[in-house]
Order: sequence, then C-alpha cells, then structure tokens
Amino acid sequence: MIGYQRDFVSPCVPFAIRMPLMPPFPARQYDLVIFDMDGTLTEELLDFDAIRRDIGLPGEGGILEHITRMAPPERDRANAILDRHELDAADTCVLHEGAVEILAALRSRGIHTALLTRNSDRCAQRILSRHKLELDFVATREHLPHKPHPDSVLNIIRHFSTEGGGGISPGQTLVVGDYLYDLQAAAAAGADCALLCVKEPLPSFASQATYTVRALGEILAIVDSVPRSP
Ligand SMILES: [Mg+2]
Repeated sequence: MIGYQRDFVSPCVPFAIRMPLMPPFPARQYDLVIFDMDGTLTEELLDFDAIRRDIGLPGEGGILEHITRMAPPERDRANAILDRHELDAADTCVLHEGAVEILAALRSRGIHTALLTRNSDRCAQRILSRHKLELDFVATREHLPHKPHPDSVLNIIRHFSTEGGGGISPGQTLVVGDYLYDLQAAAAAGADCALLCVKEPLPSFASQATYTVRALGEILAIVDSVPRSP
C-alpha cells in the first residue's frame, strides 16, 4: 500500500484498564465500505471521449451534468446514447483482480458494503449479475444526487442507519474509488477515501485521498489495521 495511513490512536482510558486490552483490541474503524464501479470494481468500463463525441459534448464538465441541463428532446437522445454505451460495456467488462474476494472478506468481518455509481441501474445490475458480485446496497444514476454531492454518500449511510445498521457515522465509512468525484464525495460527507490507482503515474488529485492503493486487496489491510477511534 502506498500513501499514508493514520497512526494508531490509543483508547483514552486509564492505564490499569487499558492493560488487559493490549495488544490492540480487534475493534475496527470502518463499518461500511462504499465502492465505485467503473475503474474500481471493474476495469475501466466506458470510453468517455466516445460518449462525449457521440452526444456532442465538450471535453470539460461531467457528462451527467451536461445532460441534465439539456432540453427534454435533446436530453432523451443523449440518455439513449449513454445507455447504449453503458450496456454494451456491461456485457464485456472485466473485474479488477480481487473484486469478488474483497467483498466476501468484508462480509465475513460483518462490514457493510455498497455500490455507488453514476451508471444506470440496468448497467450496474447487469454487471453485478454477470460477475456474481454481492453488495448490501446499490445506488445508481437513478439515486439522486450523484457523486460528487455529499448526499450521494450520506444517503447510503442513512440507509444502513435506518435499516438496523446501528447508526453508522461518516467517520466509520470508507469510500473506494478511482476518480476525483469519489474523493470529493467522501470528503464532503466526512468519510475517508481510498483511491485505487492501478496505473502509473498517480493522478494529480491523489493527494486528496486518505489512502492510495494499487490493488483492491489492499483495502483489507486498511480495514484490518486501523482501530476505531475512541
Ligand atoms: Mg470510477
């Protein structure tokens, strides 16, 4: 794992009480891990340049944000193009190494998992089904607002907090993604973020991540090694 990892924070309890708990008790920092899909659980799925070209969008700004500002007839055409690209990609995409294993490992530890993607529900469900990925909650383009809005993350946290999750806080949440929007959404929500960088060089926004990892399997070291803050 590259990047930094927070120092161990000793529980603020008297020494006499703390002694029986040493070595560090097996509490954990994170009760919820939220994964991005495109470029995170899967290898890069979409050719964004091709989508922009087919719709007729400029090179800057989010595709969804551009489409939202269109008049209805043009917006429908753009959404149809986006859907076609996504569904074509969903039929051929490949998982990143360790995707199935990290979800299973988190589940075995009792850590909730969720998907947060700007792709459509049809696209996401097709990929999850093809690759037999199991997550506890799936938030797609149909769930508003989208990343990087903080509520994209906070709404998932609220889901687990109201469905018997025992009141998960943003500080107990780790967002795993490969793009700036993942980092921004996590930070704005008060959650930590692990940036997955499978290629060199690191992107310019990597410094905004809490952790930087080169493979999905490294997420397990993060959730296993960082104890819950007192
Ligand atoms: Mg991504």
